[in-house]
Amino acid sequence: MKILTVIGARPQFIKAAIGSRAIRKYHKEILVHTGQHFDSNMSDIFFKEMGIPEPDYNLGISGGSHAEMTSKMLIELEKIMVYEKPDGVLVYGDTNSTLAAALAASKLGIPIFHIEAGNRLGTLSNPEEINRTCTDHLSTMNFAATESAYNNLVKENLANRSYFVGNIMYDAFMYFSSKPANYDSIIDFDGNKVTIPDKYYYMTCHRQENTFSDEPLTEILSAMNSLEYPTIYSVHPRNRERALRICKDNNFTKIKLIQPVGYIESIHLTKNAQKIVTDSGGLQCEAFYAKVQCLFVLDFVVWPETMVDNRNQLVKPNKNDILSKFSKTQIIDEEYQPFGDGNSAEKIVDIINKWGVENGKC
Ligand code: UDP
Repeated sequence: MKILTVIGARPQFIKAAIGSRAIRKYHKEILVHTGQHFDSNMSDIFFKEMGIPEPDYNLGISGGSHAEMTSKMLIELEKIMVYEKPDGVLVYGDTNSTLAAALAASKLGIPIFHIEAGNRLGTLSNPEEINRTCTDHLSTMNFAATESAYNNLVKENLANRSYFVGNIMYDAFMYFSSKPANYDSIIDFDGNKVTIPDKYYYMTCHRQENTFSDEPLTEILSAMNSLEYPTIYSVHPRNRERALRICKDNNFTKIKLIQPVGYIESIHLTKNAQKIVTDSGGLQCEAFYAKVQCLFVLDFVVWPETMVDNRNQLVKPNKNDILSKFSKTQIIDEEYQPFGDGNSAEKIVDIINKWGVENGKC
């Protein structure tokens, strides 16, 4: 089959590093990069480090409001889909690129395969919730990373086109964990190399909910600055100015701000950290795989399976709440593996292949 895959943001590059390899064993893949993330350390580095194939198209669309970005993508993706006539469109996760691709494909009657379907926070105030809910309902096949995500799809009457396959991010973690990290590439915002201490906390924080004003981020950083070990904070371009300014103005000397790093460096930083503090969906799962305790700074649970035995705790962007949850210890049940067996990409491709045969596409 000819499968057209649309990616555009950091976590999608990581998923595509695994997904493309599995798809290309059997099918011709056309890779489209929307350009949603474009900085070299948010995009190029992943293609190089993880061996992701060069995109066939790069749309260079980023910035603007959600509507501006999504509508520009919709127009350009439709042209490519009309020209390429794929047998299916493959999308990952819940970004504007995901939604734009799903809308364009569904209006053209092209089947959609959605990887990492079914996650729900239970609120449409979160922009990604809108993207994933719409995409799930437009998709021909939904691949859920966990049983709870699969159950959400069942509740929304999508059982007949949904599959629990495990988390492709777990596949990525397993596959890339054994590759050596290049810590020389870790630099601060003056371009200087950052030496990673033996004991540190690893943090990312960039969601709209935590970075729309100074207050929540200042609370989080103030809590981190008061702890025993330094914090390595990988700063997303979205809130770079704010993060740098808050640390400087408040003299938060225990916060080491670094530019975004490659995936292999990120998972090594995770594995060796004392604890993780994040508002990232992907990083909280990686903390879980690495058995490193995590504090997740948001009002809503994203990955319920991680919220057991203090392994991942929901915290408010509030210094006292963060510090009180920081003191708790986690318990690890080695038998508990809710994210599959690290072979979800193979399972997804098997299901797509079966569908292709049944529908006379291959
Ligand atoms: N990540 C990375 N470099 C960094 C920070 C994070 O490669 O400097 C990885 C992290 O390990 C995880 C993914 O990026 O796999 C998470 O992406 P992001 O937080 O942008 O998106 P989300 O997970 O919230 O969808």
